[in-house]
Amino acid sequence: MSFVHHHAPHAKPGPGDVCLAIHADRLLARPDVSQAAQLPCCGDISGLAEDHAPPLLHVGALDGRACWLRAVGGSEAPALAGWEWHDTRALLGVFTPAQSHAVSCARQLLWWDRRHRFCGVCGTATVEVVEERARRCPQCGALYFPAVSPAVIVAVTRGDELLLAHNRNFRPGMFSLLAGFVDPGETLEQAVVREVSEEVSIRVNNLRYISSQPWPFPNSLMLGFRATHADGEIEVDGKEIEQAGWFKRTALPDIPRPGTVARQLIDAWLRE
Ligand SMILES: [Zn+2]
Repeated sequence: MSFVHHHAPHAKPGPGDVCLAIHADRLLARPDVSQAAQLPCCGDISGLAEDHAPPLLHVGALDGRACWLRAVGGSEAPALAGWEWHDTRALLGVFTPAQSHAVSCARQLLWWDRRHRFCGVCGTATVEVVEERARRCPQCGALYFPAVSPAVIVAVTRGDELLLAHNRNFRPGMFSLLAGFVDPGETLEQAVVREVSEEVSIRVNNLRYISSQPWPFPNSLMLGFRATHADGEIEVDGKEIEQAGWFKRTALPDIPRPGTVARQLIDAWLRE
């Protein structure tokens, strides 16, 4: 079970290929996604193809099958018998890791494609480069490749306690790990130290990289770390972070859903 991103400019979609149909923050899947989420094939969405102009974009291979993206425009997502539009964030919790990777890749490619229709240097309309995943300006030659924004997320421990915080953008009552974007010119380690210091005013040490996850809201790569509390008392910034504290394994608040790197880091700590 895997997803591999690759660029196949001469590939043609077949009716049995996987199709990721995306409408704003929603994705087309079977109505009952409580067990495993089933994704449509290109043949299943031929009804959409006639009404909605953007062509299929090749994304890669999902579990050995070619995988395509169809961006569906319009203010209302069209109905398709047997299928339903689901919130993409919620689906990541029921998807297999390979499905999550495919959706992350498709959303990031779409986000990039939509934002590079015109050259940022001279304003000319760009054209697709055939041999690689890029857009090129026919006027000045500038090349635009898909870019990701690195962000760090860190599980900070103090003895047998874990630092969890409530961000103002979270759902009510939900606590997670601290996270933030890497600044230009910064190492990942510096970003971890800075984010923790800015958000809760403590110092951390013993940084250790654990794992990463492409995160498609809209184009991040989340890099997960562990760290330990060095010194200082928690003092929340009051802007992004509204509440934060040290939590024991037996008294955890509402935490992120499975399928997120935050949850993986928390679960790894819980198993220790
Ligand atoms: Zn240009």
